[in-house]
Amino acid sequence: MRSEKINPLFKPISSLQGVGPKLEAVLNRLLSGGKIINLLWHIPYNIIKRNKHENLSLEIIDTVITIKVKVISHKPSFYKKQPYKVNCICSSTPIDIIFFNARTPIIKNSLPVNSEKYISGKLEYYKNNYQITHPSYIINIEDIKSMNDLEPIYGLTSGISQKVISKTVNKILPFIPDLNEWIDEEAIKKYSFDSWKNSLLALHNPKNYNQISIRNVFRKRLAYDELLAHQLSISLIKKFNQKHKGIKIIKQKKFFNNFINSLNFKLTNSQKIVIDEISQDLNSENQMIRLLQGDVGSGKTVVALSAIIQTIYSGYQAAIMVPTSILANQHYNNIINLLKNTNISICILTSKDKGKSRIDKLKDISTGKSNLVIGTHSLIQDDVSFDSIGTVVIDEQHRFGVFQRLAFSNKGKKPNILVLSATPIPRTLALAAYGNMDESRITEKPIGRLPITTTSLTLSKEKKLIERLKIKLNKNEKAYWVCPLIEESEELDLKAAIERFNNLNKIFKSKVLLLHGQLKEKEKEEIMNKFKNENYKILVSTTVIEVGIDIKDATTIIIEHAERFGLAQLHQLRGRVGRNTIQSNCILLHKDNLTINAKKRIQKMIETNDGFEIAEKDLEIRGAGEVLGVKQSGMPSFKIADLSIDNDLLEDIRKKVEYIYNNDSNLASQKGSELKNLLHLFERDIALKTLKAG
Ligand code: ADP
Ligand code: MG
Repeated sequence: MRSEKINPLFKPISSLQGVGPKLEAVLNRLLSGGKIINLLWHIPYNIIKRNKHENLSLEIIDTVITIKVKVISHKPSFYKKQPYKVNCICSSTPIDIIFFNARTPIIKNSLPVNSEKYISGKLEYYKNNYQITHPSYIINIEDIKSMNDLEPIYGLTSGISQKVISKTVNKILPFIPDLNEWIDEEAIKKYSFDSWKNSLLALHNPKNYNQISIRNVFRKRLAYDELLAHQLSISLIKKFNQKHKGIKIIKQKKFFNNFINSLNFKLTNSQKIVIDEISQDLNSENQMIRLLQGDVGSGKTVVALSAIIQTIYSGYQAAIMVPTSILANQHYNNIINLLKNTNISICILTSKDKGKSRIDKLKDISTGKSNLVIGTHSLIQDDVSFDSIGTVVIDEQHRFGVFQRLAFSNKGKKPNILVLSATPIPRTLALAAYGNMDESRITEKPIGRLPITTTSLTLSKEKKLIERLKIKLNKNEKAYWVCPLIEESEELDLKAAIERFNNLNKIFKSKVLLLHGQLKEKEKEEIMNKFKNENYKILVSTTVIEVGIDIKDATTIIIEHAERFGLAQLHQLRGRVGRNTIQSNCILLHKDNLTINAKKRIQKMIETNDGFEIAEKDLEIRGAGEVLGVKQSGMPSFKIADLSIDNDLLEDIRKKVEYIYNNDSNLASQKGSELKNLLHLFERDIALKTLKAG
């Protein structure tokens, strides 16, 4: 049970005054969770100084300023695209306040003619005129004191502004309870940590740039907490697992050989070795928990299927869990084909299955009629129960989902678990992330696959590129065009992608499709199918195509503003092509003046196709200081911790966890009960359940 003290943090954000269903939905999407604690973990990544100025000058253009203005007159817009202008003066200099698509009465009310107001926003200079577009604040003269000089900047998504998020955060800060310390004194001293509460408060109220830097001590403290919670829960689960037997799968030689012989290709040596490793695990009484790493296109699916076939012909069920329903469908179609010579009954379960269809499928799963179930997270919902689950395969695990995996083990027996990762992870990180999970690696590509040719090109040579593309697409080939992540805003991403789409669609005569993150799953799927099956040539997309999409005719990928992507992500994207015996190309379009690290990244991409090499380099570059957003890098991510920065904590934490494992594995001591709070805060409930189950 969670303690009374931390319970309030787990209330829905919508329980706060002023947070309605609409805002709740947006926050839920932004934070991947709708509880107060989810917002607490969402720490600002920058600050803005709202510099107060008496006068306007050219030097302060493009900076955020706060000025006093007098409103002179209003110039409403006559047609829709025209902005609404409010003419003002600051001291004696004219300045316009500009609004697009704004409602007249609101502007009239907030900026009445002849009134004096403080305006805060980015100063622009347009056609010899000063202007501020959509000011972030319009403040009455008497209220100026309530505005902070420094304001935190939070990551956003469409439908929410800095102002609203700051306001909501300020409502939740008073909920942070005083908790007894769970980190031992020695570590507190060594790293000069402040308490959990003070650290959170400091992060949400930054007083200087130092407090925003990723290396600041407050964030470090929370990273320590998160890594400790993570490692501790892995170790608790491991202890629990040692007391319980796994499922022993007998190698089904005949069925296994039939399957392998039915393939229209020969396994690579690497695949053979890995299949042997897995078979040995399956054949033991211990639960298998194995990470299978292999680059995109290295052929992990058949390896997984060989484990699945052995499981099913030993009388158990198997499941494959993937992150999206697009991938579930793709796997389903692909696997039906690969297993067509068997009598294995396959079922697909996603969030789309509702009502009767879901009930029927659940029944087939619980009676064992379905041998293999392919699905999304809906597989681990409470109402899904397997008759005899023997092996679970988890594909394309970009995030640390150890706990989702274990949800399976908590249902009755403990199935074997195989995690497929196409994001190669350096060994040091794998250890931190997955504990002592066993690991197999596929190190070669199928024979006959041509390595993808990667080139870089500055954006100014775009015309040349388009000419080349025309020639290539005149054959039966297709291309992806990936638009970059712009700052932290999906809305801006989308705008850039739409522009690019319009531009290409003109050139390629309506043979272009657009895919982006704000579409519904179903719409995405329709677009992917169109691209695959109909006469479309180019798929313009934001980075949503990153995970697992498999379209053989796609032989070119263009990544626009490649300098903005992390190495791991570039490599993931590149893996969307090269699935064919035709030569594939990856073109990294970039701006002119690259930073040293951006140059290094692009150079590495040109040099090698080896995902493991790229992963090591990624860590090296990131560790060297340039911090890419964790979420953008394609590396598995924590809420706060970043392994390329916080790896200096890992060894201390490992020792600490080992000590607990040996001396207090029921968390029965005083410190132990504080640690339980920590596990609750990071929602490691499954680890806590193992304590109770004994
Ligand atoms: P990933 O490791 O990215 O999941 P897949 O399992 O989807 O890769 O395999 C990519 C493609 O390569 C599939 O079309 C698969 O059938 C094919 N493939 C797998 N193994 C081999 C092999 N040994 N020789 C030739 N093609 C193979
Ligand atoms: Mg795959």
